[in-house]
Amino acid sequence: MLSDNPSTKKNISKTLGKFALIHIGNDEVYGLEFVAAEIAASGHEFQWFDGEAADVIDSIIAYNANVVCFSPLTTFFPPSVILARKIKTRAPQMRMVFGGAHITASADHIQTDGIDIAVTGPVYGTIDQILTLPDKSVIQGTPVMPDKMTPRRREYFETIPRIGGRHRKTIMSHFGCVYACAYCATHNQRRVIGPKNYQQFYLTRRPIDHLIDEARILLEFKTKEVCLEDDDALEGFEAEAWMHEFVPRWNKEIGIPVYANVTPKTVTHVSDSHLKNFSELVHYVTMGVQAARPSSLKLFNRQFQKEEQIKEAYNRLKAFGIRVKMELIIGLPVEDPIGDAIDTIKCAQRIGAGDFGVAFPLMLYPGTALHKWCKDNNIPMNEECRFEWYSGVGSIKFEDPQIEKQIHNLSKLASMFIKYNIDERWMRALIKVDIPEEASKLMSQNCYLEALVARQGEAAKESFEEVLTNMNFRF
Ligand code: SF4
Repeated sequence: MLSDNPSTKKNISKTLGKFALIHIGNDEVYGLEFVAAEIAASGHEFQWFDGEAADVIDSIIAYNANVVCFSPLTTFFPPSVILARKIKTRAPQMRMVFGGAHITASADHIQTDGIDIAVTGPVYGTIDQILTLPDKSVIQGTPVMPDKMTPRRREYFETIPRIGGRHRKTIMSHFGCVYACAYCATHNQRRVIGPKNYQQFYLTRRPIDHLIDEARILLEFKTKEVCLEDDDALEGFEAEAWMHEFVPRWNKEIGIPVYANVTPKTVTHVSDSHLKNFSELVHYVTMGVQAARPSSLKLFNRQFQKEEQIKEAYNRLKAFGIRVKMELIIGLPVEDPIGDAIDTIKCAQRIGAGDFGVAFPLMLYPGTALHKWCKDNNIPMNEECRFEWYSGVGSIKFEDPQIEKQIHNLSKLASMFIKYNIDERWMRALIKVDIPEEASKLMSQNCYLEALVARQGEAAKESFEEVLTNMNFRF
């Protein structure tokens, strides 16, 4: 029998807990919305706080929280810890709880000054333990079936207007991926809960009614597009039947434009009817191309991928009227990182020159297989990496500063190189120039704007300034 949500089964603690949920960053922290729902289901109360607001600590103290919850992406882990320490200094009785993928990646995080409790895996079954277990406990959550997982969104959007007002919102129909790329956190999720549980709990889709109800809330806030953040929107258990039912419901009852992520291999093996149905929902996808050289694909555990396969996937998507953004990874720990990066960009040019593509430097999250491989092979890691996509700064430290600079420049210029099909000689010359900070910022903003135009059309140009105002654009 499948597990029920533990919070609905167990005796709820008699003490009412007050949980402060901390938002940090430009995009909604989707995972914390599930935490909010679980807190409420466990009979406690919660309130959202903007972790970047000047008066956030005063506000949390005024709320008199028992527990302060953080679920930071790797990028926001350092500022989250700093904030937790500051809160702790002023209110030592408050308990700082950290969860999410970054924390799940390593039990060692519990040793970090400022973290009282670490939650690994899902939040389910942990709320009362958070209130009662001693400091420095690591609590492992219990996976539940997706029909027991529902986020609480409205309070978040109401309390933090810069998130409620964001043009883009997120939705997930399932939480796993069938692939096992060496740089991806799914590898660790699978390890933590075991492959069988992963299959059962992470690859089953959520009920359509739940997603539609969840999306109705998005209609009440400024939402121009929804990212179906499934790791691969076409994959998963009974994906075709699920989508066949989901697409007409979404189009009729919600109607907000949707974009999604896909993997070339999946695109080549789904049926025409599945893809047709998908194209009635999604007009724009991000397709991970990642690398071109076989040795680099092997390093990424994507050795199954061939250029012909990517081309076939690209052509199929186009044939169904779906626009494609190609995503590439450069700055790999290989002998010739510049040659490797240029080969990857040339591959994207052969597949879809004139189209939109981006290249990000390799960012390695703790707990991933490639992170471990780098450690085992004494690959120097770059302390400057802040896991900011548009920064051009990745995880690998190159001893030669020229290589570092050229990888940085390539990540800034790759979209232009692909769009205008720039010849290799010009690429190699242009990546040697010094890019001043203002130009670097504008290049990254152009890249972001092109992504918005590709998804939303020319109108995105008119609202771009407003989009930038609602976010702290990091480049
Ligand atoms: S396809 Fe995407 S989500 Fe799946 S393992 Fe690879 S990087 Fe992760």
